[in-house]
Parts: sequence; structure tokens; C-alpha cells
Amino acid sequence: MFNIHNFADANADPEVADFVIVGAPFDATTSFRSGTREGPEAVRRASYNFETYVHRHSIDFRDLQVADLGDLDLGSDPAYAMETIGDGFAFIPEGAIPIFIGGEHSITPPIVSEVARRRGEIGVIVLDAHLDLRDEYGGTRYSHACASRRILELSGVSGYASIGIRSGDLKEYLYAEERGVSYHTSDEVRERGIEAVLEEALAEVGTDEIYLSIDFDAIDPAFAPGVGTPEPFGLSSWDVRYVVDRVAPKAVGLDANEIAPQYDGGQTASLGAKLIREFIAAKAAADR
Ligand code: MN
Ligand code: MN
Repeated sequence: MFNIHNFADANADPEVADFVIVGAPFDATTSFRSGTREGPEAVRRASYNFETYVHRHSIDFRDLQVADLGDLDLGSDPAYAMETIGDGFAFIPEGAIPIFIGGEHSITPPIVSEVARRRGEIGVIVLDAHLDLRDEYGGTRYSHACASRRILELSGVSGYASIGIRSGDLKEYLYAEERGVSYHTSDEVRERGIEAVLEEALAEVGTDEIYLSIDFDAIDPAFAPGVGTPEPFGLSSWDVRYVVDRVAPKAVGLDANEIAPQYDGGQTASLGAKLIREFIAAKAAADR
């Protein structure tokens, strides 16, 4: 009841929980500046700011079964960390929605792999400034710069689209073109609106079971400055909340990654905590 280490209102027994929160404080492959290992703790702390009642969805967190397993002990070797994330699913009930707080984006492929194994076939929507389509980076295929490439290699992933893109190596853009990898730039969102872009992305993904991965650098640094690799001209916090609202009813899992709280005054962790709560509320309202 007074466990400040939990995400706020996440006090359910994991065995009966509908939503299970897991911290994945891993940042060993970070390329520009480190610190996303502090993300889970900062997001949990920020979560205590918010009311248990969510008026937009007529949902009260006191009526929900949300559990927080705490943080995985991921060490510093990427292969070990990825394997440990997969092992962590033994503690998440089959029917529960997993919500991971990163950590860097490299945590996502092993999560998607496990969710796809459980669900059969899933689609993935990634919000990111970066294509993350490198085959390897900094000597490792587990780098956060390879996250989407690894996701696309998973057999259980039948559809994929990314939104918010504004950075990548020429090779990554060519790879996307050759393989028909769907991506939508932040310029496109600004011109056409997030509603139209997301509709197209959902059609490209083409499945009713969707995993949502939010790399917080997808969001403009004005809204989310506390990230490992900030990129100007990004999505607004409103755009991302729209995606969360729209995708949550179909969602089979969520991760919020790349939050590095030491680079701002708390606003990115606050946005992370809020979006996780909006996700849970939107999903619970749809299932009611
Ligand atoms: Mn990323
Ligand atoms: Mn990114």
C-alpha cells in the first residue's frame, strides 16, 4: 500500500493482474549519451503526481488490476540482457498486458518476440525519430540503433510501421525501400495530421493485435528533452496521446523506452508516466 517503488496504483498481485509493469533499466549500447537505465525509477516516481481517476476514460485506477514486478536485473552484456528480458515473461500471466519501462530501445525485440510467441501473430507500431534499421552498430547487433531491424526479423511479426521518423543512415533508408518497410516521417505527421498517418500505418500493419513501442525521441525535444539521442522537429505530446488512445484497444503490449531523466527537469519522465496511465485507462475503458 505504501510501496513508493511501485508505479502508482500498481499494487495488484501479478497472478491476477490485467496489466503488468516491468522495469528494464538497460543502457549498455547507448550511442550518444547514457542514462536511460534511470528511466524506470524516474517514471515510477513521476506517476505519483496523477489522480487515480481518469476523467477522459471514466476509469478509476482503484478499480483496475495493475501489478508492478519491479526492475529486471539486466547486467551489462546485451545478449544476457535480452535473454533475461525473455525469461522475465515467466512472471507475467499469459492473459495480462505487459508494459515495459526502458532502458534503451534494444529492450524491445525480446519483448516483441515473447508477446508474438504467446499471441501467435502480431503487428508492431514503433514511434521513433530513428529508423533503427542498422544490421549492427558499435560492434553489436543488439544495439538500440538496430531495434526495428531485429523486430522485423521476428517470425511472429506479420506487420510493422513506424511513425515520427527524421533520422537514419542512407543505407537504412535504402533497406526500408528495398524491403518495403513502412515508415512515416514527422514532416508527414505535420502535413497530414496524426489521424490520417496513423490510419495508414494501421492499414499497413494489417492486424487487430498490435504491440506499441514508444521511443521517446519520437517526440519533439521541446516536449521530451530527457532522451539519449534528441532530434528536433518531432511529434507533439498530443500526437502521441492520440496514438495511445487509438491503439490501446487493440494493444497486446507497450514499452516506453529511451527516457534519460538526468537531462531535463522531470518533464520526460512525467510524460512517460502519463502516457502509460493513458494507455492503461484507454485499454481498460475499451474492455469494459
Ligand atoms: Mn529507437
Ligand atoms: Mn530513437
